[in-house]
Amino acid sequence: MEKVLYKSTRDSSKLVTASQAILKGLSDDGGLFVPTALPKLDKSIDELSKMDYKGIAYEVMKLFLSDFTEDELKNCIDNAYDEKFDTKEIVPITEADGAFYLELYHGSTIAFKDMALSILPHLMTTAAKKNNISNEIVILTATSGDTGKAALAGFADVKGTKIIVFYPKGGVSFIQERQMVTQTGDNTIVIGIKGNFDDAQTGVKKIFGDKEFAKQLADKGYQFSSANSINIGRLVPQVVYYVYAYAKLLSDKKISEGEKINVVVPTGNFGNILAAYFAKNMGIPIAKLICASNENKVLYDFFETGVYDRNREFMLTNSPSMDILISSNLERLIYLIAGEDSDKNASLMKSLVSEGRYEISKDMKDKLDSFTGGFATQEETCAKIKDMYEKNGYVLDTHTAVASKVYDDYVKKTGDKTKTVIASTASPFKFTTSVMEAIEGKKSDEPDFELVDRLSSISGVKVPRAIDEIRTAPTRHDHVCEKDKMADAVRSFLGI
Ligand SMILES: *Cc1c(COP(=O)(O)O)cnc(C)c1O
Repeated sequence: MEKVLYKSTRDSSKLVTASQAILKGLSDDGGLFVPTALPKLDKSIDELSKMDYKGIAYEVMKLFLSDFTEDELKNCIDNAYDEKFDTKEIVPITEADGAFYLELYHGSTIAFKDMALSILPHLMTTAAKKNNISNEIVILTATSGDTGKAALAGFADVKGTKIIVFYPKGGVSFIQERQMVTQTGDNTIVIGIKGNFDDAQTGVKKIFGDKEFAKQLADKGYQFSSANSINIGRLVPQVVYYVYAYAKLLSDKKISEGEKINVVVPTGNFGNILAAYFAKNMGIPIAKLICASNENKVLYDFFETGVYDRNREFMLTNSPSMDILISSNLERLIYLIAGEDSDKNASLMKSLVSEGRYEISKDMKDKLDSFTGGFATQEETCAKIKDMYEKNGYVLDTHTAVASKVYDDYVKKTGDKTKTVIASTASPFKFTTSVMEAIEGKKSDEPDFELVDRLSSISGVKVPRAIDEIRTAPTRHDHVCEKDKMADAVRSFLGI
């Protein structure tokens, strides 16, 4: 098998192995790791359609993580996709209202982040062993709500690791916050910051880039790594489910071999949809990649105009995991459409920092023809949840509803009848308050857990284990810090 190496989007001169890229998370120059060449599937779709989720996971991941042995990778996969998921299929597909909902939320924290974060700790500890690393790995993560809990659940009590999670205090749902602050595990810490997600993410990036800090850590036997979706160990496991979706639709005879599909992804940091783009490049017949935004529609504007501009008001919406103005993973796409020109990419990213905006060339924009963007307002999102429930008895979470509404608009505008997969990124139970408000047409002042029970009764869906667990769990984390004091908080937790 051809060995895939990784280079930074801001400096192509240095190459690292996949395991080194996973350990580092972000390149020293601030760039993101990308494979030297996007791999192609070496099994036919017909062969893949006879495999289960784990089988396909191996076939996809072996191509990206080519310095892992077969045993190592299969071991990671077995440890990840097990009874933590509430269904043997791992990713069920539900057909509703003319589209296929790819339910990525059956893992331990009921959001799609589990798809990657249940395997990342295993990839990372395996990578440490392969590289003879004896330092303890400190995972530093900024979350808009779902990554935090999924990372905590993945890394809790994993030997040789600690995990520190920063979230925007007041910027996540009640359930999301409960999930995080009740997290067990001696190696975990959760900190609310007085700021929004972009502040948290910027703070984490700054700590990663601080050479002096890194040196102090090393002296104490620690090194940082990232569980954010900039880590290639997050991105690669996400490619799997798009390959799986195609193979499963084929084996269920919902599509015929070679038939093209469209994919709609509710997008924030651009990780999930980039994984779909990688799947397309691997050979999965995907026609359009439809990027769905909420009112923070910086990506919609980018796909329309070629200008990425974060100079705008930041909105807190009912799809908080997409409340993002700086979509970090977009940098990988920018790099690719710049013809893998790291200088060109670096200068655009520099302008994003200094001006808050950049504009791509016509040449680059032409290479985005498989992408299209759309957005939905909060009212439209609520209306979609209600409509879907009333017509089909199927309950969407707010993020998935954004995608669903954007898909409706896309079909109306284009008349495109291509069969379509919609990435369903969270269980409605994770956003019960907003979902029930949408269905019942008014905000309820009942306690969240009563709404949870009512959602269960009207939808006929059992309350997920992840929700039952936090009803009575004690709060273990109540730290809050200023957005410019994040580094101090890290030092204090690590005793530096
Ligand atoms: C993280 C998240 C998203 C956005 O995914 P990106 O990979 O950041 O684009 C969408 N929906 C939910 C529920 C999420 O948790």
